Amino acid sequence: MIKPGSKDKWPRAKLARAMLLYAGGHHSFVIDAYTRRIFHRHGWCKAEAGYDDLQALCEIALGEKPAAGRLDYWQDYHAQLVIVGKHFCRARNPLCSQCPLKPLLPRECSGAAE
Ligand code: SF4
Repeated sequence: MIKPGSKDKWPRAKLARAMLLYAGGHHSFVIDAYTRRIFHRHGWCKAEAGYDDLQALCEIALGEKPAAGRLDYWQDYHAQLVIVGKHFCRARNPLCSQCPLKPLLPRECSGAAE
């Protein structure tokens, strides 16, 4: 069990979750640094949210799909977060003006750093 806020255990948890989701075909949403950064910048989670908090948030929000299509949906959703995180929501100098998630930025952040 990973305690909320214990960020040092995220890589191991991420690997295990990724194996469950992609290789094992289990409904276990993967949280990674991209997900955390995007969610924090958009105000979709509290600053102190830990791995379990973010995973629960995603699994509840994305759990409405019927079980038959949920696995593909979660895999695709996670893959898109990785693409956004890798190409736009970089740790330094995020490219908000070019990012497909820009319309979802909080109003006070809509002119975010470039
Ligand atoms: S709009 Fe900006 S903060 Fe939001 S995901 Fe894109 S790069 Fe990150």
